[in-house]
Amino acid sequence: MNFRVVCYPMASDSEEGRRLRPELLCEASRPQLREYAPNVAVLPWGATEAHGSHLPYTTDNVQAEAFAARAAAIARERGARPVVLPVVPFGSNAQQLDQVATCHLSVSTVLGVLRDVVRSMTTQGIDRLLIVNSHGGNEFRPFVRDLQFEFKALIVVADFWRMRPELRREVFDVPGDHADESEASLLLHLRPDLVRMADAGRGERLPFRIEGLSQPGVWTPRPWAAIHPDTGSGDPRMASADKGRRYFEGVSEAIAEVIVGLSRALPGDVPYFGGEYGDEPAGLH
Ligand SMILES: [Zn+2]
Repeated sequence: MNFRVVCYPMASDSEEGRRLRPELLCEASRPQLREYAPNVAVLPWGATEAHGSHLPYTTDNVQAEAFAARAAAIARERGARPVVLPVVPFGSNAQQLDQVATCHLSVSTVLGVLRDVVRSMTTQGIDRLLIVNSHGGNEFRPFVRDLQFEFKALIVVADFWRMRPELRREVFDVPGDHADESEASLLLHLRPDLVRMADAGRGERLPFRIEGLSQPGVWTPRPWAAIHPDTGSGDPRMASADKGRRYFEGVSEAIAEVIVGLSRALPGDVPYFGGEYGDEPAGLH
């Protein structure tokens, strides 16, 4: 299986890797896609940001693309017709702008990109979209509520790290959420050539100094480098490629289940209405 960056496929020694895959837009040709007739668009969305000293800035993009590609391949084997769009490589990074070369997309830009993707897909009759999100700072829910109504499309968000929580607890020893054991393990599985575990720090998290802010239900974003001195959140040093493989396969299966469900959905299979919205005819809203 080829888990290289999807838009820049690299040679693989397997037959599967050499074959052009119709479920990957970046590999497929137009005649191939016309015959395949995808009905679910899968949009990997990452970020480009510091991931400790041991992982590359593109960590989230590698994960988003690989989960999307693997899940789409599994789903296609089960009769679904997904097409994986190119990864969006920038995310919400306002709290990391003190780190060299970090790019932040503001919410108006994110809404603009997402709106244009949804409009493009629905224009071609693809009215089901799955966002495979790999970056904790990316929040799509308010946009999805608006766009779903505007375009009569079914839009679903999968934050991969929130899926299969029992598997996450079973596979990993140390909890964390950034450049931690889970992300280091995934990268050791997917792109070991980009990992330098010898440089890994402890991923320490310092507390807020203002009292009262650490209670459940109270939130403000972390000023990243002030709270996480080595930019990691969670100790990555027990990471392994095998842990990454187990977690990757389990979560890919779960994402594939979403794709299969979306692809098979018929109008009226709530929450899919196929151009109608709720129980009123389209056009009344
Ligand atoms: Zn990450």
